[in-house]
Amino acid sequence: MRYDVVTIFPEYLEPLRLSLLGKAQESGLVQLNLHNLRDFAFDRHKTVDDTPYGGGAGMVMKAEPWGLALDSILNSALSNQPAVTADAEPHDARPLLIVPSPAGKVFNQAKAYELAEQEHHIVFAPARYEGIDERVLNWAEDHFRVMPVSLGDYVLYGGEVAVMAMIEAVTRLIPGAMGNPESLDEESHTGGLLEYPVYTKPSVWREREVPAVLLSGNHAAIARWRRDQQIERTFARRFDMIETYPEDGWDKKDRKL
Ligand code: SAM
Repeated sequence: MRYDVVTIFPEYLEPLRLSLLGKAQESGLVQLNLHNLRDFAFDRHKTVDDTPYGGGAGMVMKAEPWGLALDSILNSALSNQPAVTADAEPHDARPLLIVPSPAGKVFNQAKAYELAEQEHHIVFAPARYEGIDERVLNWAEDHFRVMPVSLGDYVLYGGEVAVMAMIEAVTRLIPGAMGNPESLDEESHTGGLLEYPVYTKPSVWREREVPAVLLSGNHAAIARWRRDQQIERTFARRFDMIETYPEDGWDKKDRKL
């Protein structure tokens, strides 16, 4: 997977070089290119924003530097594209351009799976201020598949944190990017229920004991307990998920609380 991020704060995303994401880059599974938008602003002050037409509070990111930054990514993507064989299926070769925005569709685990499985190049355009001149997104439609995506129903200072969250969520679903891929199987938001509570040594801590069943060695009983916990927890914390949980997802032994 190749990621390109255009931002006025490339250093904000440097922590993505750490831990398992860093390893995924070292092994070549993932390539992360950070571009400073100011490198595409050519006045003395490297200006990337200006006052909004029509008035109002805040500043708007200028079209010119965004256009040049995206041109440069497109050019490098074209020169890296694999040769197309005559019998290849026709496909939309435009890279995906994700524009973080509180006005986008909300990101979730299903979208993360879709991106991990279907994409090989994602460009991110996190904005600051009041966002990017809308003409950039209109123009980009001709060269990218443009997707405005929200991290959730709240407003951040800028899109960098949203990009970091999406890159983490997508990368860990790429085969080979997880230390233990089995951890993905029973995760919250994968099977439609939240994950069960987890414990480690010591078995007693501040007078609180690990549930006895987990020490029993009885794998069937442990699996049953974990399943019950998933259901209980999802009822308590995310009733909206229970409401959409498919009828055929319930096990005969499940207690529908
Ligand atoms: N005035 C804009 C609005 O109300 O839609 C919000 C601008 S916000 C201060 C600046 C930038 O932060 C946005 O353009 C976007 O890139 C990013 N941002 C803020 N909240 C976000 C969210 N919930 N999800 C994704 N990106 C967000």
